[in-house]
Amino acid sequence: MPRFPHFSNRVQDLGGSIFERYEKSMRAQGDNLVRMHIGDTYRQPDYPLAFEEQFRQSHPNFNCYPNTFGTTALRRLLHEKVNEDNFELKGIENIMVSSGGTHALSAAMMAILNPGDEVIIPTPAWPLYFGIVKLAGGTYRELPLFADESEMNTAELSAALESCLTERTVAIYVNSPNNPSGRQLTEAQLQTIIHFAERRNLWIIADEAYDGLVYDGEASPSLASLPGAFERTLTVFTFSKLFMFAGIRLGYLTGPAEAVRKANAALVHQIYSAQMPGQLLLEEAVKTRREWKPRVIDAFRHARDHFMLHCPVDIAAPAGGYFAFFDIKDYLNGRDYWDVIEACIDGGVSPAAGINFGSDFGTWLRLCFTGEPHERLQLGLERLGRVLLNGA
Ligand code: PMP
Repeated sequence: MPRFPHFSNRVQDLGGSIFERYEKSMRAQGDNLVRMHIGDTYRQPDYPLAFEEQFRQSHPNFNCYPNTFGTTALRRLLHEKVNEDNFELKGIENIMVSSGGTHALSAAMMAILNPGDEVIIPTPAWPLYFGIVKLAGGTYRELPLFADESEMNTAELSAALESCLTERTVAIYVNSPNNPSGRQLTEAQLQTIIHFAERRNLWIIADEAYDGLVYDGEASPSLASLPGAFERTLTVFTFSKLFMFAGIRLGYLTGPAEAVRKANAALVHQIYSAQMPGQLLLEEAVKTRREWKPRVIDAFRHARDHFMLHCPVDIAAPAGGYFAFFDIKDYLNGRDYWDVIEACIDGGVSPAAGINFGSDFGTWLRLCFTGEPHERLQLGLERLGRVLLNGA
């Protein structure tokens, strides 16, 4: 059972790229090196591609394999970004670019879970994470946390965490701001989780996919910025949310260098590396984020407010993220839950079913308020209202 600071058996003897051993010496050779080690091509694709000539010329290797940890240029920029916005990182050895946050989480779990090991998952939780744990051979315990209107105080949280602990527990997953509830944990709650992890030698997986997307009040600090957290925490970020570029399928993992290396060993044997052209494209986006970030947050806040204005049921406003999550049991009027979901689809609006976010949420719905322009959002909510309020 590889509790912190140990890794899974599967990555014990698994290296990263086979070229890693002499990569430094190769880099020292610069352009002098005749590159015959990797199966790549010196040619650029010569069929039509919607890349402007300027992009092709400034990135002559845009079609080649990047370093398996990500391009040095993007990792340098991300190093600066994480240091400025999130927590202190020593260098680019603490960063690995991945194929979306999804893959960063998968590689991280491959690196720390042996078959049968357990992860504590506060719920409701992003549905794919349950499967990511299972795919790495693990199991999980659900800890209902984010749906409770009244915030759990630190003593209650500490007791709840202890009640989920078994001799197979190796990690706790912390997704704040949370998908689907839109809630963020307070600094005191985060610190309680860190103390628990320290006490029980656990890894922490901090999923900060909604990094910076908080609409009311102050954003809580990144978990890994708090005392005692960094060395046991693997933090996952993505370009899918604030950067609004889900289709580029890029994200990144940060943490202690050895843990990042072990996750990279898993990544190399799954996908070798994240894609190159997207990493080049995003350099400018990371560089300029201070200029555009407030505009995006404002736009998402407006979307959230518009959603609240037209939401047909009385719910608390989500403080951050992309979603509202609420119980519709009072609106079923004797109908079957899945029939109500079908009625929504037939009526022209599509929710996500709550049961996928944890076993306690079989009568809940998740709605994304950033996915459609305002008029369409309003139309969807009117349609939802017709199903929930009028149907019986
Ligand atoms: N974590 C959470 C909480 C998410 O909501 C998502 C995307 N919905 C991800 C991770 C993964 O995002 P991606 O693979 O697009 O980077």
